[in-house]
Amino acid sequence: MIKKRILAVLLASISLFSLASCKNGNDNDGDNSVPGGAVKPTVTDTIHEFSIETTPYSLVKNGATEYKILVSEQGKITHAEAISELQLFFEEATDIKLTAVTGEEAFDNNAKYISLGDTNFLQTADVSIDYKTLGTQGYEIRTIGQSVFVCGAKQGVLYGVYELLYQLFGFETLSNKVTYIETSVKDLPLPKLTIKEVPDIEFRVPVTGTQTNDADSRHRMRMLNSEEVIMAEGGQHNTLRYILKPEYTVDENGNEVLLHPSWYSDDVTQLCYTARGNAEEYAAMLAAAAESVKRIILKYPSQNVIAISQMDVVSWCECDACQALEDKYGTDAVSQIYFINDLTDYLDEWLTTEEAVKDRDIQFMIFAYHMVEEAPAVQNEDGTWSPIDESVVLNDNVAVWIAALYEDYTLSVHHEDSYNIRRLMESWHACTNTYFIWAYNIYFDNYLIPYDSYGAIQDMIQYFVLHDTRYLWAQGNYNTHQNTGYDDLKSYLFSKLMWNCNLDVNTLISNFFDKVYREAADIMEGTYWAWRLQSAKQIALGRSGSIYASPHAAKFWPQGYLTSQLDNMEAAKAAIEHYKISDPKLYQAIYDSIVCETISPRFLLLENYSNTFSNLSMLDFKTAFKKDVNLLGFDRLSEHVTLENYGD
Ligand SMILES: [Zn+2]
Repeated sequence: MIKKRILAVLLASISLFSLASCKNGNDNDGDNSVPGGAVKPTVTDTIHEFSIETTPYSLVKNGATEYKILVSEQGKITHAEAISELQLFFEEATDIKLTAVTGEEAFDNNAKYISLGDTNFLQTADVSIDYKTLGTQGYEIRTIGQSVFVCGAKQGVLYGVYELLYQLFGFETLSNKVTYIETSVKDLPLPKLTIKEVPDIEFRVPVTGTQTNDADSRHRMRMLNSEEVIMAEGGQHNTLRYILKPEYTVDENGNEVLLHPSWYSDDVTQLCYTARGNAEEYAAMLAAAAESVKRIILKYPSQNVIAISQMDVVSWCECDACQALEDKYGTDAVSQIYFINDLTDYLDEWLTTEEAVKDRDIQFMIFAYHMVEEAPAVQNEDGTWSPIDESVVLNDNVAVWIAALYEDYTLSVHHEDSYNIRRLMESWHACTNTYFIWAYNIYFDNYLIPYDSYGAIQDMIQYFVLHDTRYLWAQGNYNTHQNTGYDDLKSYLFSKLMWNCNLDVNTLISNFFDKVYREAADIMEGTYWAWRLQSAKQIALGRSGSIYASPHAAKFWPQGYLTSQLDNMEAAKAAIEHYKISDPKLYQAIYDSIVCETISPRFLLLENYSNTFSNLSMLDFKTAFKKDVNLLGFDRLSEHVTLENYGD
């Protein structure tokens, strides 16, 4: 009986793998069915346009180049990172350091430039760039005459430079340890490039701490931290900390007295978004909040997103005015919606006329979280959702920030057990046209156990793209500095699929292993699929996909499986041994990547099978484990526990 169940689960999981590999190819066989009977949507209308042809010209000839980087005087500052990255990696590939010059010269067919950003050289060339569509993150790359143009906003030009390096030298950053690029390039024809890309999700936040805590690999993988997107004081829970901070005075009896008590819930844990229904106090509250918002917006000129976000406690104001709205609409969310709509109306004139902000297109955002998770919407007979009335529809410049804590992110978003996240997204869609998503993707109580969301990542991202998601942070081991349990691959897949959600996942996986592990690729990819198979067996044994689980029990991790994984990783080390002499830097990067993957199985052996070791070999095993953990920079066992004293 048990055997049958395991087999059924294995078969189900294998059919999921094959669905993932074919569903978005041009040769889609049309089988879009998923468990639970839902139909997978297809994502169209994304912008990833490539035309790559040849020219008779040379970019590099006999180990030399006539090309220079050209920027405007302003571009020298705006595109400083793009310039230095282009110089760094062009030199790594060719041993040639490109010169960067500023200039206002007009376009000339015979000039040889790599022009970055909005130069006069670009403006006088016969080309128009669609900056509005590109937004803050997209880019266009064009070869015109003998020059190459990389165009876009600040981040767009940086990402365009990475794309140009990819087209020229196969450049790709795969983790905090490995960047792939061809080297010793002595001759290179100038390609005729016509490329336009806009990422499917505008703001892509890294899943793992390896990128959160390393700006180089984060930017090279085309991602930004939340603080690079959202004004820091507008951060995660700010209404009482920055927007309307409770202020106190002292009365004649020496007692502390709260000023404007009607602005706050009785326990002062949240705002009273209606100011107790008192019109005068409500007007004063709006004016005070507006002053805070203006101050924050002016303080953070590089970010255009501001959160007006509730405090992180499960409470809401229960005064008569707030309660009346809850009674009428069945959710506490309406008091917050009315307030943010009134606040953004109040700020409208300032936002559109104030010199410092009128071109910034400021995005406001509120949480749908804890007490205000439910949307004021009703489901129609055809399954679509409508707002309860027009008054609860958010202003165009207000997004809803959804943080779904209790989902099982190992399951496809289309799975019947993922109903809640779909219901949240679709019901709120009746009230907003923009989402920010805070999802999760780790066992928070154990960073060293792999969280198997690999069969679900693409479905989730495609679903979010289809639902107007502007920002996605699938939070993983954000506060650590090194990955195991294939989390490097996870970060890579997220970075690629948030950029272009229709890429083929299995091709990405093979590309990752080929470029990270070189001659050891097949062995290491083999260990990945062996783990996925073990993971499928664990489901039958009752393993939870909750982010609060910590499935390290021996029944999930047979000793034979763990030692076989480690034996294969030893073989992987042997396969790259020749780089030790020929390319020591590359050797170290691959070697470290392999040792990182040994940490998870070694940890699970220590947790479950210590009693099968002799005392002496146990001590050796543990000492070697701790040495590698320290050398590689693993610093956390879980979100709140460090590895410092593990096993002592
Ligand atoms: Zn209230």
